[in-house]
Amino acid sequence: MSFLVIAYMLFALLWWSVLLHKKNNQTYQYQVELYKLDSSKSEIDLLELEAKFRRQNTMILGESIVFGLMLVLGIYFLYRAYQRVILASQNQKNFLLSITHELKSPLASNKLALQTLSKRKLDNHQQDELIQMGLAENERLSTLVNNLLMSARLDQNYQFHFSNTEINSLIRESIKKIQNKYPERKINIISNGETNVEIEIDQAALDSVISNLLDNAIKYSPNQSAIRVSVKEWKTNIEIEVLDEGIGIDQSERKLIFEQFYRVGNEQTRTSKGTGLGLFICAQIIKAHQGQINVTNNEPQGSKFTILLPKKQTNA
Ligand code: ADP
Repeated sequence: MSFLVIAYMLFALLWWSVLLHKKNNQTYQYQVELYKLDSSKSEIDLLELEAKFRRQNTMILGESIVFGLMLVLGIYFLYRAYQRVILASQNQKNFLLSITHELKSPLASNKLALQTLSKRKLDNHQQDELIQMGLAENERLSTLVNNLLMSARLDQNYQFHFSNTEINSLIRESIKKIQNKYPERKINIISNGETNVEIEIDQAALDSVISNLLDNAIKYSPNQSAIRVSVKEWKTNIEIEVLDEGIGIDQSERKLIFEQFYRVGNEQTRTSKGTGLGLFICAQIIKAHQGQINVTNNEPQGSKFTILLPKKQTNA
């Protein structure tokens, strides 16, 4: 329907331009006739008449082209804004579906674990397995709630508190927490040069960034594959890389994954759990630190997330 309206507007514009051109032509012909009848007019008057006719024709053509271009440009910007709204609403719908599932499934698992523990006589090993499973589900729920809280705070202008922090120990602490959650996964930290590099950051926020990137590296790579975190010190910046050997991210998705609620694929085909909040949170936090975050291919396989952070905040 909207295409019909646009086509009509363009056609109407073309039609009016042709009509104006014709009208101008007729007026010119009429004035030439008058000129022929008036013996007091000179050759110069005819030339002026002709020049005026040409100027008016050029003006009609110019105005029509500019108007047409403005119309097309306006429609293009409206279309882009419309597409963004559609994508945001689609992402929001997907988020509601996934959040419902993400909240329900650990609650259901824990309920089952507690019911089994209370009703059946289990040996120590079985009991321990159920308890560990319950704790892991609880941890998952707590990560999810933290992400929800952080995302809501970022939406409402979260106040960052920057303080001088030793970056390597902060990263080691974040790795330790993730390692407790996934004891079977191997995460290496590689650091070049100084080990105690101080940098001005919001500690809780940066911990959230590292944890989200590590969580994703684990989620989107096979169980046995290695995960590395590298920290490099440059003159004014610190570069942090999180590298995995997982499924990687298609070139066309690399900007979109930093949008709120965006997840690769669709609800029908996706097998991984998630809400599409993690990378949005990372991007917002890094932006507030006047830094940059991007993703490229890890060689030979997987993803490499790179963060660049200035050592000092210029207007913190
Ligand atoms: P979630 O993991 O909850 O879906 P994120 O915002 O953390 O949300 O990530 C957005 C999307 O980016 C994910 O759905 C996933 O498809 C993709 N992604 C993120 N990290 C990785 C990674 N390390 N390897 C492959 N894909 C990733």
